[in-house]
Amino acid sequence: MLPSPTPVDTLLIGGTIVTMNADRSILRNAAMAVDGGRIVWIGAEAEGLQAYKPKELLELNGMVVIPGLINVHGHWAMTLVRGLVDDCTLEKWLETIWRVEAALISKDTVVTGSQLAMVEMLRAGTTCAADMYWYYQETTEAARTAGFRIVTGPSFAEIEGFENYRNTNQAIAVEYLDHYQDVHLVHPCIQAHSAYMTSPATLEHVANLTHDRRLLFVTHAAESQGELLQVHQKHGKRPIAVLDGFGLLGERTLLAHCVHLTDDEIARLAESGTSVAHCPSSNLKLSSGIARVAAMVERGVNVGIGTDGAASNNDLDLFHEAQLAALMQKGVTGDPKVLPAEKVFSMLTIDGARAVGLADVIGSLEVGKFADLAVIDFSSANLTPCYDLYSHLIYALSIGDIRHVMVAGQVLMKNRALLTLDEDEVRSQANRIAEQVARIKSE
Ligand SMILES: [Zn+2]
Repeated sequence: MLPSPTPVDTLLIGGTIVTMNADRSILRNAAMAVDGGRIVWIGAEAEGLQAYKPKELLELNGMVVIPGLINVHGHWAMTLVRGLVDDCTLEKWLETIWRVEAALISKDTVVTGSQLAMVEMLRAGTTCAADMYWYYQETTEAARTAGFRIVTGPSFAEIEGFENYRNTNQAIAVEYLDHYQDVHLVHPCIQAHSAYMTSPATLEHVANLTHDRRLLFVTHAAESQGELLQVHQKHGKRPIAVLDGFGLLGERTLLAHCVHLTDDEIARLAESGTSVAHCPSSNLKLSSGIARVAAMVERGVNVGIGTDGAASNNDLDLFHEAQLAALMQKGVTGDPKVLPAEKVFSMLTIDGARAVGLADVIGSLEVGKFADLAVIDFSSANLTPCYDLYSHLIYALSIGDIRHVMVAGQVLMKNRALLTLDEDEVRSQANRIAEQVARIKSE
């Protein structure tokens, strides 16, 4: 007699699973059992149907299952200032954006902007994202309510006009880190805006906090030539040397941008195990330059991909970023072999997980990891025919092809309908706030 089937929460059957495991296995006619938020079994469809009795059966009929994408750098609530200032210098852009933000930011506006970001990211197959912004605790709670995985925490900065915001409050930072050290879907980190926005004393404090807590440290570094000058004026060194001096490079450090690095600095990042968040659209749009990602990858630097905030992109579509990342490197190096599609897809998934310190729990579809995934319908014209899945994922996919999204076993998008966020309500709230933004801008 056959053993009775094991009860599980969900069984996905009939799909092709792009695992992104160490062997990069791709399993066809496969099945995956999910229980308690985690993947408990992966194997052949027929075997899965016999062995498991699911509460919910997801029939995928030849669709493709991928690990949920990881957006390693962004400022979620900046969706509210999307398209507010384009086509101007970085100085003008920052001046306008910061003036509007200083007048606009409140708990409520940040929550709405963050919800809008999650709607957009889920629709684009993203299941985990890093956020650096004000009111990070409220954003954290908004993410938990939506079932979305968040990497965030206090972000230290000394920005004129923002002195009263709580990011710089050290007691609140500690309270947050204590409270969220073991909360489902929340991965606390410690952030400093940048070396040009933080004094040596603040960097010292951040370094102590990071080392005591053994948490991920995130900052912007070497984004533009102007930043190099400002950092030099403030600290007498280049940004990488400043961070190195405070012991802030290493396997738990993630640096956003890194557009302007010397060969020695790339070698130092590789040697120290420091990760980089590559944000190609933002770097192009603000004319910051083109990061030497092919050189970084070749030297062994771990690179994930981020959208940055929606004001400098202007969308939160990681697939678009990945395609741009691949094409830009081929263009600037003159070598079409650099950053092949499979490598770029790993930057969106397992390399991104490593960048945010979560490679043990997400980034690939393997037994024991959280069931964070997206299901893609490969029947559309733009994905037909298909000779190579990675090629289509990077060069041909449109985010409209993404059908379902799951985070820690919970289906957040089913047949393109969002189940935990009221998209219409979020959009109308954001449009109401936009009237306020327009008034502030014209003042
Ligand atoms: Zn940024």
